[in-house]
Amino acid sequence: MSQKYADIIIDISHEAVDRTFQYIIPEELQGSIEIGQQVLVPFGNGKTERKGYVINITDKPSYDVDKLKSIGCIPDKSLALEGKMIKLAAWMKEKYGSTMINALKTVMPVKEKVRQVAIKSQEVEYVIEKGPVEELSYEQKSLVDEFVKDYNTGILRTYLLRGITGSGKTEVYIECIKNVISQGKQAIVLVPEIALTYQNVARFKQHFGERVAIINSKQSKGEKYREFMRANQQSVDVVIGPRSALFAPCKNLGLIVIDEEHDNAYKSEQTPCYHARETAIERGRLEGASVILGSATPTIESYCMAKLGTYRLWELKERPKGAELSKVSVVDMRQELRLGNRSIISKELHDLIEDRLSKKEQIMLFLNRRGYNTFVSCRECGEVIKCPKCDVSLSLHNNGFMMCHYCGYIERHPKECPKCKSKLIGGFGTGTEKVEEEINKLFPAAKTLRMDKDTTTKKGAYSKILTDFLNHKADILVGTQMIVKGHDFSNVTLVGVILADMSLFANDYRSGEITFDLLTQAAGRAGRSEKSGQVLIQTYQPEHYAIMSAAKQDYEGFYDMEMSYRRLLRYPPVYNMMVILMESENENKLIAASKGIFKELSELAKGMDNTRAIGPSDATISKINNVYRKLIYIKSSDEYELKKMMDKIEEYNIENINITLDVNPVKMY
Ligand code: ADP
Ligand code: ZN
Ligand code: ZN
Repeated sequence: MSQKYADIIIDISHEAVDRTFQYIIPEELQGSIEIGQQVLVPFGNGKTERKGYVINITDKPSYDVDKLKSIGCIPDKSLALEGKMIKLAAWMKEKYGSTMINALKTVMPVKEKVRQVAIKSQEVEYVIEKGPVEELSYEQKSLVDEFVKDYNTGILRTYLLRGITGSGKTEVYIECIKNVISQGKQAIVLVPEIALTYQNVARFKQHFGERVAIINSKQSKGEKYREFMRANQQSVDVVIGPRSALFAPCKNLGLIVIDEEHDNAYKSEQTPCYHARETAIERGRLEGASVILGSATPTIESYCMAKLGTYRLWELKERPKGAELSKVSVVDMRQELRLGNRSIISKELHDLIEDRLSKKEQIMLFLNRRGYNTFVSCRECGEVIKCPKCDVSLSLHNNGFMMCHYCGYIERHPKECPKCKSKLIGGFGTGTEKVEEEINKLFPAAKTLRMDKDTTTKKGAYSKILTDFLNHKADILVGTQMIVKGHDFSNVTLVGVILADMSLFANDYRSGEITFDLLTQAAGRAGRSEKSGQVLIQTYQPEHYAIMSAAKQDYEGFYDMEMSYRRLLRYPPVYNMMVILMESENENKLIAASKGIFKELSELAKGMDNTRAIGPSDATISKINNVYRKLIYIKSSDEYELKKMMDKIEEYNIENINITLDVNPVKMY
């Protein structure tokens, strides 16, 4: 047997993972040592023994072998929670092409004391509109029954709950969690963003009271650590939070719920670019926990898995109180223009708003602005003002400044065009501010609220706006996609989508899916109570399949079209797609390196059956903060071949060139 070596970390914490020590694995232990295994090792001058964890096993020593000591013994064969988290990190490293250190840093809690000042502030006011639900509907109950039967007989699996908006998915989660807790286990509930789903969080509070830990992105590291430790000491049964709450060190995990599983927030933007859905399923496998994914519009990936039978498909097709789904209609804005209406509000939408105002009912106006900004351009020569350090146009803000959303660069709005000196230079594009202005002009008596990036920067701003709207302090809420997530306003009977197609223009293979999701979620905001709701979608592309299926509220129809498109163009989930992002301040060096890398990868791909390399090309934003960016794409339907590509890329260590991998990205590069 060849000699093997283990890299070991002594203190298992986020801060210590950089310090690894190498030890010889004695022959008698070779068969029983795996990644994550706890071991006892001689430490310091060799007189003391300490506990450590194996994070890597290799046959090549990185140090002088004569100086290496041997592992002492294995105190306990079974893997402790820490060991399982290390295994999870190792899985992430393989799956997403990261270093072990970065993967470990992602799964390990950051140890930090809570500063006294930080504790008191924060708490969001959780407004609860109604009391707890008395009885589950027949549909809900049959799902919960199935879960209980599976769970109590030791069947662990992934369930995909596709339930129309307002079908009561949260009640299903809560009942399943209660069963898990009754077995002495804990649950993690992931939500896209706490502030945006605070009504749901309030319902968990209602049920589980003090036994819930809530993690949010505005907490300090210390506060987060304190909540994580409450989970570790089992003083809570449920942890709720965004993506990173997946790594809460629950000792006794029984269930992971991912609400709104289609949300992009579940994909990490830092290496390892992990997806919380895939990672949750792996954590569940390692720790013996079930997983429930829920959405009105599941990702194509998840629905495909459910159709294949890998996930158990659950459906909720009705709203428990029998509230009808809203009536949805589409307005062709090209036709509006032909009829001479240049306003961003169509005649039909105008009339409906008037009607609702007269009945004292509320209205939500949603502007789909994904990937879109108000930029400054010259009406005479067409010049667009760009950031000097990034290849993007500057966004105009109402304070008269233009800002780069990538590097923070700020400049005053110019008085004349820097190119042709024309005075006809100004903001172009439709923003939420513009919509609000237009509404105030058309309906001067109506009170409006606006919710977007600019109005929600302050702590507590989200819940203030939502609570005010809930209490009918305004008639109309204008906002970006922030307003379409799970809020439940019973007095809203009209939802207007100002421009449905903006997200279709993004150069992203998922733009159809994103558009369909947004429109479906937006439509779900209307008619949540006895009063029936109506949804009006304004678009320049009424014939697009994403818009047509959303108007018909036809998920299956959309899925079929989308899958055939993905199959045709070899996109996920049919193929895995890996982005290789290469960055450098030195443009010439980057050009040469990206060509060289591409040549080698194509060479490697030639020997493979199901893998292709595409590129190199400029990134969509080819320069950020004076750093140039180039891309190579790898499309592969074979995990083994893809892994070989990753290994090859890992070998590259080119000075001044930074390489990042993202497998199945959900954002544009
Ligand atoms: P979803 O997350 O599926 O959009 P929610 O879980 O937010 O739906 O539920 C929508 C509304 O229906 C909530 O106000 C909830 O309290 C209510 N609800 C859920 N289940 C029932 C039930 N069985 N009976 C009465 N009301 C219910
Ligand atoms: Zn000009
Ligand atoms: Zn910039």
